[in-house]
Amino acid sequence: MPNILLLGGTSEASALARLLADADMPTTLSYAGRTDHPRAQPVPVRVGGFGGVEGLARHLRDHRITHLVDATHPFAAQMSANAVEAARIAAVPLIALTRPAWRAQPGDRWTHVPDIAGAVAALAGPPRRVMLALGRMHVDAFAAQPQHHYLLRFVDPPATPPVLPDHSLIVDRGPFNVEGDSALMQAHGIELVLCKNAGGTGAQAKLLAARALDLPVILIDRPVLPPRDEVHSPHAVLRWLGHAADRGV
Ligand code: NAP
Repeated sequence: MPNILLLGGTSEASALARLLADADMPTTLSYAGRTDHPRAQPVPVRVGGFGGVEGLARHLRDHRITHLVDATHPFAAQMSANAVEAARIAAVPLIALTRPAWRAQPGDRWTHVPDIAGAVAALAGPPRRVMLALGRMHVDAFAAQPQHHYLLRFVDPPATPPVLPDHSLIVDRGPFNVEGDSALMQAHGIELVLCKNAGGTGAQAKLLAARALDLPVILIDRPVLPPRDEVHSPHAVLRWLGHAADRGV
C-alpha cells in the first residue's frame, strides 16, 4: 500500500490532495506553517519544518513513506533541494509537481531580475507607486529603496508592521481576478508591479491587469533547483504513483 508525503503550500498541492483522497491513496499533506489559517484539506495534515535534509530523511523512514511528492511553490528552493537529497538518502521515489514559468506576451513590459537583491537594485531612481506582490517574507529588503510608495497584499495580517516607511497594506488571500486587480492598481495609482515568476493561473491576475493597464513589471526569475523528475498536473502524479507501484519501487 502506498503511503504518500505531499509537500504543499500551493493550490496545485491542494488539488492533488483532493485527487489522492478520492483515489483512497493514504496521504499526508505537509505545510511549513507560514499562514495562520491554512485551507481545510481532505487528507491528514502535518505542520512545520522537518529539520533539514536529515530531519526529512528520518521522517520518511520513521513514517514508512513510500512516495514523496514535492508540490511546493517554485520559490521554495530550500525545501525542494532538501526533498531531493532526503529522498536519495532514504531511497524513497520523488516526483515534483511544477508549473511552467510565465512568458511575456505581446503588450507585456517585463524586466527580468535574478533574485530579491536584483529587484531591490532595479527600484533605484525617483519615487514611484509600486505594487510589491511578494508575500511578507521578503518585503523588508525594500526598505533599501524607501523613496517609493509600496502597495502590499498579504494573506494574513503581519505580526509586526512592515518596515517600509510609505506603504498601504491589504490583507486578502484571493482568489484574485483581472478586473479586481486592475481596479486595485488604478485605485492606488500603481505605476509599476514587482512580483516573482511563480507561473500557474492562481497568481496571474496581477500580470494580466498590468498588461491591460500598460504598466511595467519587474519579474523575479525562479531559483535554480537540483535535477529531479517533474510533472505538470495532479493527474500526472497519479499516473506516476501507479507506474512507481507497478515497478515495485
Ligand atoms: P523554503 O525557503 O524553501 O523552506 C525553508 C524551510 O521551511 C524548509 O527548509 C523547511 O524546513 C520548511 N518548509 C518549507 N516548505 C515546507 C513544507 N511544505 N512542509 C514542511 N516544511 C516546509 O520555503 P518557503 O519559500 O519559505 O515556502 C514555505 C511554504 O510556503 C512552502 O510550503 C511553499 O510551497 C509555500 N509558498 C511559498 C511561496 C514563496 O514565494 N516562496 C509562495 C507561496 C507559497 P526544514 O528544513 O526544517 O524542514
